[in-house]
Amino acid sequence: MNCFYHPQITSVGICKRCQKGLCAECLADLGIGIACKGRCEARVKLYDEAVDYSIATYRKAGETHLGQAIYWTIIGALFILFGTRSEHGDAFFLIGLILIVMAVWNYQSSRKLMKSCRKPRAGGSEEGKFG
Ligand SMILES: [Zn+2]
Ligand SMILES: [Zn+2]
Repeated sequence: MNCFYHPQITSVGICKRCQKGLCAECLADLGIGIACKGRCEARVKLYDEAVDYSIATYRKAGETHLGQAIYWTIIGALFILFGTRSEHGDAFFLIGLILIVMAVWNYQSSRKLMKSCRKPRAGGSEEGKFG
């Protein structure tokens, strides 16, 4: 394949965005891929940054939820402990239970967020049953 912009020169790479052949003079090596210098360069960079950003955001949100889950579990446990030891601690016990439920909810949403950062995997193989 020859360079799209210089048909007489053999290309050394292919643009990540437009799939055109590029010679050494026309390509911009972005580290994450090759792009047409000055044409697709900005787009490829922007796209890569956007993907990185959304993954980082999801991961961060997942970590925050996980932190909250641990926090609420500890506070909830303290309330329950106090509720069971105190003579009129029913309210504390109830609050403790609510906090534990919140912790579980936070944990589940953190799992969901963390999962969405990962690449989807193919499900387990299906075994046919005969008989
Ligand atoms: Zn291009
Ligand atoms: Zn060229």
